[in-house]
Formats: sequence, structure tokens, C-alpha cells
Amino acid sequence: MVASPTLSENIDRALSLALPNLAVIDGEFRAARSGATFANVGPRDGRVLNTIAAGSAADIDAAVTAARQAFDDRRWRGLGPRGMKKVLFRLAELMEADLETLALLECLDTGKPISDARNVDIPLSIGTTRWYAEALDKVYGEVGASPASRLSYAVHAPLGVIGAITPWNFPLHMAMWKVAPALAMGNSVVLKPAENSSMTALRMAELALQAGLPPGVLNVVPGLGTEAGEALARHLDVDMIAFTGSGPVGRALMRAAADSNLKRVSLELGGKSPQIVFADCPDLDAAAQAACWGVFYNQGEVCTAASRLLVEAPIAEAFLEKVVAVAKTIAVGDPLDPATRFGAMVSERQMAGVLDRIADAKACGARVRLDGGRVRTETGGFYISPTIFDQVAPHTRLAKEEVFGPVLASLSFETEAEALALANDTVYGLAAGLWTASLDRALRCVEQLQAGLVWVNGWDACDIVMPFGGFKQSGFGRDRSLHALHKYADLKSVSITTRPA
Ligand code: NAD
Repeated sequence: MVASPTLSENIDRALSLALPNLAVIDGEFRAARSGATFANVGPRDGRVLNTIAAGSAADIDAAVTAARQAFDDRRWRGLGPRGMKKVLFRLAELMEADLETLALLECLDTGKPISDARNVDIPLSIGTTRWYAEALDKVYGEVGASPASRLSYAVHAPLGVIGAITPWNFPLHMAMWKVAPALAMGNSVVLKPAENSSMTALRMAELALQAGLPPGVLNVVPGLGTEAGEALARHLDVDMIAFTGSGPVGRALMRAAADSNLKRVSLELGGKSPQIVFADCPDLDAAAQAACWGVFYNQGEVCTAASRLLVEAPIAEAFLEKVVAVAKTIAVGDPLDPATRFGAMVSERQMAGVLDRIADAKACGARVRLDGGRVRTETGGFYISPTIFDQVAPHTRLAKEEVFGPVLASLSFETEAEALALANDTVYGLAAGLWTASLDRALRCVEQLQAGLVWVNGWDACDIVMPFGGFKQSGFGRDRSLHALHKYADLKSVSITTRPA
């Protein structure tokens, strides 16, 4: 592997890099029709990185029109599986060649550590693109039992124009979870990235054109959620909205679909995921690492963050000491420093929201085990160090609501039944985990935990081959795996009646 650039090399590269700022519509790089832009603030130092085209209804309409035209004239589907595969593989190759730039853009936009962007986010985005390139000719239809005079079969037909609306925590990775399977099924896409983190999506669209993706097949329109996002959600010629983001916006998208053309909606929303540690945990040190990094990875801005730690009473005190000890080793650092493992919050707004939640938890009587708060203020950036609470009352906001920041709420329990009741006592159902040496207990708990992802004796231990998505108010529809391909298609049942000889 190539050595990672040093902090000063990264700072120099960041200063000299041409930062993407134009929409990509119908194969062209365009300013917003209105000429409007928005300031893209870098969380590392609070300074404006660049100004980006602020797309609105007119730009969305142009992008949807281009996407529809591209779908109808079959310029993409018409390449056939081999041709489409070649283009998506070429895109993955170009992303790989561009890895350092994509990682730098992601780091500047989000404040995540450059080492995570370089070793995790961008490689996973490339891997996702490759995986769906490989999978696209492995989608089979069905032949139904038919009389001799009829052939009945069902095929997966692409939906048409997919509107993808994505969040800022893993910007390119979340975008590729939607763009890659949607394209693999032959659709056209209009992607609206989060306003905090548009740059890697814009860069990827440029690479897609270089890879030979025909113009209009993938359009990226940056802009505010309430303008560009809402225009996409309400557009009458969009067949589906694939969304990752917050619950309130998910609800707004369902309303927009109902009020417009009944477009399909898939929602990947937030979570308040529990990690349960039973006294028979086979490896308390590994569990402490998982309890800590399960919630503090990516500054806690992870939808599957293990934000609730449930520990069996006899080991609760000793186990929490281990978790606190691991958390104390986390140094909040400059995102551009390759040694940093914990960087900045994405925005001043996000930072302020998390600080409010810490103050609220203290006011509600939770005990502070690790007192985090704003740090590195001299940089002008948006940094918060990890915070750990225990003795969290189950009815309080900290126990029930998502923080989306580096705050761990620890609760203890006496029995397995109590652990499961606590774990399920939330409107969310994204992920859950448990640590136990008992296979019987593991199987019982897996069956009873209300979550789309369940991990035993490990956290976040799965990848692209497994479906990803939630139960309850964590949303519906799945990203990743072959299931995601079916999300971007409809079943078409065909019956051909034959004439007797
Ligand atoms: P958000 O819902 O505010 O924004 C997500 C996207 O929706 C952005 O692109 C935004 O511009 C757009 N948007 C905002 N308002 C809109 C509107 N009225 N109409 C259409 N689009 C609109 O969420 P966020 O702050 O970007 O991300 C944080 C949230 O996302 C957290 O709640 C987190 O749990 C969730 N999340 C979930 C997953 C998952 O896979 N389940 C992954 C990442 C983040």
C-alpha cells in the first residue's frame, strides 16, 4: 500500500485542489439556473471551503428530464449486461486511481479523519461499485408453471428515474449504496447529496462520464434539502426516492410521494442501537473496544452507532471502567493528520445539537463517567470529545432519542428479559448487538431483538453481501446485497399464449 501523505502534505494538497462545485446534468457541468450558490463550510477550521451551485426546482427538472430521456432512448440499458458491467468496472478503476483526492474531499467536507476516508469510506465506495458491476448479470427472473399453450414468466424491469437523497456522514459510500444498484438494474439516477458534503458525489459523477456512462444517466444536483431535495421528492416524473437521512425528512418524503405521483419510497433512517453485554461475555476486552468504537467511530455520526450500552449488573461497574479506559485513549485531532482517529463534527449546527443533548442528560441526572465537551476551539473547527454517561434512566431522552454524536448512554440490567425489554424500548430498530458465551441465549435474543441488523460477539461485523436497513421507525427497504437490486426494479409478469400445432 502507498504510504499515506503527511499532515503538511495534506494541507498543501487541500490548498491546491480544485474543489468540485458545479452540478452534473446531462453530461455537462452547470451552475444553478438561478446562479445561486451556497457556502460550503469546512468543519476542520470553520472556514468556507468553496461555494457550490445551489440547485432548485429548475435544475432538478432539467436533471429529471435528462434522466428520463436517457432511460427512454435506452442509451444505458441498450449497452446490455456486458457493456454496463464494463462501464461500472471502469468507474471503480477511476475511483481507485482517484482515491487520494476523493479521500481528501471527504475529509474536508465532513471533518472525518483522513485515514478513515482513505482506508474505509472510499475503498468501500469502490467495492460497492465493483460488487454491483459483478452482480448485474446475475439477476434472474422466474418461469411460472404454465399449461402447454402458454409460457408465463416474470422479469425484473427497471423502474425508470431514481431520485437518490443522501446524508453527510458517509457521503460517497451512502451514495454508491444507491447509485450502483440503481444503475446496475438499468435505471437513470438524479442524486441530491447532502449540502454539508456534496464534493465527492460531484467528483464521482465526473469520473462516471470519463468511464463511459452515457450523459444523462447519472445526474448530480447539489443544493439545500428544502429546495433541491423537496423538488426531487415532488417531481411527477421521478419513479422512486431512495433516501438515507433523518426520520422527519423521511416522513416528509412519504407525504411528498403521496401528494405527487405515488412514487416508491425507500427509507434508511436513524437508530438508537443497543449493545448488550452479558456477564458470560467471552471476551470483555474485545467487548469494551466494541462498546467504545461502536459509538465513537466517525465522531458518533453513524446511523448504527451503539449509543446504548446495556450491561448485566454484576459486571457493570468493572466493564464500564474498561470502556472508559479505552475512550480515554481517543485523542481528538486534526482530520488531515493521518494519525487522527477522531476528527470534527460535520457542522456547527450538529456540534451545538450534541452539546445541548449532553447538557440535557446532565440535567436529567445521568452520571457522567467521561466528561466530554467542545475542544480545539482555537482552530475555529467543530470538535467534541467523547462523553460517557451511566445510570441513565430508561425514560429520558438520552436513553430513547438518537444523538448522532459521541455520546454513550450506559444502563444496567438484572435479567435477560429485562435486557431485551430495554433493548426494544425505542421507536427505532436499526441495529442491535449482544455479547454472550451461550449459543442458546444468543439464538433466543437474536429472535427477540427488534432490529434489521443483529451482531453477536462483535459490532458492525458484516458487509456488502448482507442487506442493510431497519425495522420500526428506522425505515424500510434494504441497501446492499442482491436485495438492493430488486428495490430498483418492478416485477413484470408476462404470459405468452401459443397456438396449438
Ligand atoms: P437529513 O434528513 O437532514 O438530510 C438527509 C438528506 O435529506 C440531505 O441530502 C438533505 O439535504 C435532504 N433533505 C433535507 N430536508 C429535505 C426535504 N424537506 N426534502 C427532501 N430532502 C431533504 O439528515 P442528515 O442530517 O443529513 O443525516 C443525519 C441523519 O441521517 C441521522 O438521523 C441519521 O441517523 C440518519 N442516517 C441514517 C442512515 C441509515 O442508513 N439508516 C445512514 C446515515 C444517516
